[in-house]
Amino acid sequence: MLEEEAPRQCFKKGAQIGITETQILKTMHGLLYSRYPQGVLYLFPTVNDVTDFSKGRFGPLLAENEAISEQVSSTDAVAVKRVRKAMLYLRGARATGKIEGQKKTSSQLKSVPVDRIVFDEVDEMESEMVDLALERMSHSTVKEEIYLSTPSICNFGIDRLYNESDGRIWVIRCPKCQRDCCLELDFPECVKFKSDGKAYRACVKCGGELHPKDGRWIAQYPDRKDMAGFWISQLNSIFVDPGKILKAFNDPPNGNKAEVYNSKLAMAFVNAQDQLVINDVYGCCRQDAMAMNHRGPCAMGVDVGAMLHVVVGFRPKEKQLQICYLARVSSFSDIHDIAQRFGVRSAVIDMEPELRKAREFAQAEPYPVFLCDYQDSITTEPVFDEERRLVKVNRTLACDASHDLIFSNLLVLPRRNEEVEIFAKQCCNLAKVLEENPETGSRQYRYRKLNEDHYRHALNYFCIAARMVGLYEEMTPEKEFRKFLRRLEQETNDANYSPFSHGLRISGFGGRGERSDYYDPLSSFRSAGGKKRFE
Ligand SMILES: [Zn+2]
Repeated sequence: MLEEEAPRQCFKKGAQIGITETQILKTMHGLLYSRYPQGVLYLFPTVNDVTDFSKGRFGPLLAENEAISEQVSSTDAVAVKRVRKAMLYLRGARATGKIEGQKKTSSQLKSVPVDRIVFDEVDEMESEMVDLALERMSHSTVKEEIYLSTPSICNFGIDRLYNESDGRIWVIRCPKCQRDCCLELDFPECVKFKSDGKAYRACVKCGGELHPKDGRWIAQYPDRKDMAGFWISQLNSIFVDPGKILKAFNDPPNGNKAEVYNSKLAMAFVNAQDQLVINDVYGCCRQDAMAMNHRGPCAMGVDVGAMLHVVVGFRPKEKQLQICYLARVSSFSDIHDIAQRFGVRSAVIDMEPELRKAREFAQAEPYPVFLCDYQDSITTEPVFDEERRLVKVNRTLACDASHDLIFSNLLVLPRRNEEVEIFAKQCCNLAKVLEENPETGSRQYRYRKLNEDHYRHALNYFCIAARMVGLYEEMTPEKEFRKFLRRLEQETNDANYSPFSHGLRISGFGGRGERSDYYDPLSSFRSAGGKKRFE
């Protein structure tokens, strides 16, 4: 691996395989021999990782490599090392703030032109940060990109990079039968037991013992020249007993199968119930075309970003939601027009990144509009603050709800068209993972963003807004007439009945009377499960 010269490389690796050390040594070597005159950026997920590395591993590494350590100027700064004339920057990739909410920025990544970047644990970095870091190489003639990570989710991060690479595997020739073996591909059959019960790495054909040191890298797709990809698991680590890997695979500690796949086998893994696939969403499509207008009562969810992603729909049955319109528009006045066209009676929109505009919009609209504030501290159903028109929502629970809605086919979509396809794709761009807080050790589920996910959040907001609208009643001429008669009866019984206002009220312009399909949202969530006040 030290000799590999490809400018773009990725390493899909098991935990504690020692690749970080390999890359640091290679980096230091390149700095010593002026391969990287502008310097090198070595990125970790967080600033804490930088400190841990700098104090705990960098020193010992230098101590073992005298030729390099003589050239490194002693500096107090944990995050910058000078090697002869060139600099090695150790940085954390976590975003430190948002500018206009559009572009994530990190003070750690600003203004450092470099010739080589190593992304260590790239799966824990946000893609915006990766792009931001890559800009630092725009003026370099060397341009080396190195990605290292334990994989996490299928076709995300390092797994996707590896899938697009030349796909190198570590191949060991069996000394007995000459078969070319790859432990990663042959697992679990490649772990066998000797008569004394000791596990060993075995040729699946003849049972001969294999030694990782006898292997070589073979590219599965040698034609792909853009990225050299390496896959190496703990099966090839001489420090790990293969029997223990097999045991963990058959009986995952704490039932955490993903952890065994990711850390030990260096494989991505997602439980089927933790990520939607595109056919889950298409399974919700019916024959109806996307509507151009609707009588309502409809609810609307809006995700705010460079574009506004809008989901409009209604509630045909108590537990069912039907989407009649999907759109990406550029301004809040477009949403206003959509709300009018679709008889929208309630809406939930993203609080960020345009808080001021969202607030103005909420105040100007004639129906209730709530701004959504994703908060981890909320552990229950959404909490509505009527006065400030805010709704606090646990992001994981909201994503669970939309997941279940699609997974159990309780969502109805129009028939497939271009917009529905974009919606479907974005609905699948979140995956639920168990994350551990490195400081507290506490574990909690979070939905990780894999790619553009605006429509999924717009759907989450729509689901919350739909709590505030009553059932949609399909109108036949007969039903329409009965409704008219019923209202007439109510009006006549009303002591304040006035022949002058009567007609106005019935056509929906009346003053004091509330329209029957105008379900009062504020009362509905206050008494969740209680009976509806009107009809
Ligand atoms: Zn063999």
